[in-house]
Amino acid sequence: MRVEKRNLAEFTTLGVGGPAEVWTVENEGDLAKAVSKPFRILGNGSNLLVSDEGVSERVIRLGGVFAQGDLGSVRGDPHLTPWIGAGVLLPSLVQEALNKGLSGLEPLLGIPASIGGAVRMNAGTRFGAIADVLEAVEIFHDGAFVVCAPEELSFAYRQSRLPAGAVISRVRLRLRKKSQDEIASLLARVDSARKGQPKRKSAGCAFKNPPGDSAGRLIDAAGLKGLSRGKAEISLEHANFFINRGGAKAKDFWELVTAVREQLPLELEWEIWGELS
Ligand SMILES: Cc1cc2nc3c(=O)[nH]c(=O)nc-3n(C[C@H](O)[C@H](O)[C@H](O)COP(=O)(O)OP(=O)(O)OC[C@H]3O[C@@H](n4cnc5c(N)ncnc54)[C@H](O)[C@@H]3O)c2cc1C
Repeated sequence: MRVEKRNLAEFTTLGVGGPAEVWTVENEGDLAKAVSKPFRILGNGSNLLVSDEGVSERVIRLGGVFAQGDLGSVRGDPHLTPWIGAGVLLPSLVQEALNKGLSGLEPLLGIPASIGGAVRMNAGTRFGAIADVLEAVEIFHDGAFVVCAPEELSFAYRQSRLPAGAVISRVRLRLRKKSQDEIASLLARVDSARKGQPKRKSAGCAFKNPPGDSAGRLIDAAGLKGLSRGKAEISLEHANFFINRGGAKAKDFWELVTAVREQLPLELEWEIWGELS
């Protein structure tokens, strides 16, 4: 196990975030030790706005056995995957699924999540979400590893309900056999729906879409596209993406969030870590 003082900006796709004690756990024993004091779990940092002052809690990163696993194959059931460590990155699984002719992960193309973070957020697109292909989720809670059925986690749009203090440790998926051509064709549709999303550093959509509408459309209609604070900017390409033009601070992003909320009653999709206001 490694315990280091690090700037969380190194671990977030937005590239902002101050110092924290980062515990990189390698196995079950490490995880049990790490959760003995208040903590936060860091996935791939792709849905986080972390304060410039950092956070006081331990920040746990899942390495070692929790960052291992692939779609493998399970004897007797070609559609069921083995247990996959929650720290494994989703893009590598999407690619592996295409190579092996396994369908179900295509809607998640382009989401730079860890599989654990994807489950926690019920990551997805209009084509589908991770909850659609979950067979089982192993969580570490109250000192024990427990297997949950997806129904127990109450998945909804960009949310799940985990017991307080639970860590997703491993995940099992149920995929379907399909030809590579069929998979590639759905991947191409998902990819094309992503055209127009900025390539600069971001944390994906800042706000959830309200029922029947799109947060990006509303922010655009309110004339806020292109608004900037410091080096943070509401993207001109997609108004629900806030981008770091290089050297932005968390407080700059927070000012943009506040400016939007002064005009629109939108709910944040980002998770906020630490003090920002
Ligand atoms: C370019 C870009 C495009 C994106 N596109 C999409 C999209 O199309 N659809 C979509 O849904 N999202 C999208 N996102 C947002 C983001 O990728 C998702 O919300 C993703 O699920 C976050 O996963 P993560 O591993 O990065 O989690 P993090 O951002 O590290 O953490 C998010 C939350 O999950 C918790 N968490 C993480 N891992 C665990 C674990 N093992 N156990 C318990 N809790 C955990 C964290 O504590 C935190 O509360 C995009 C982001 C970017 C940067």
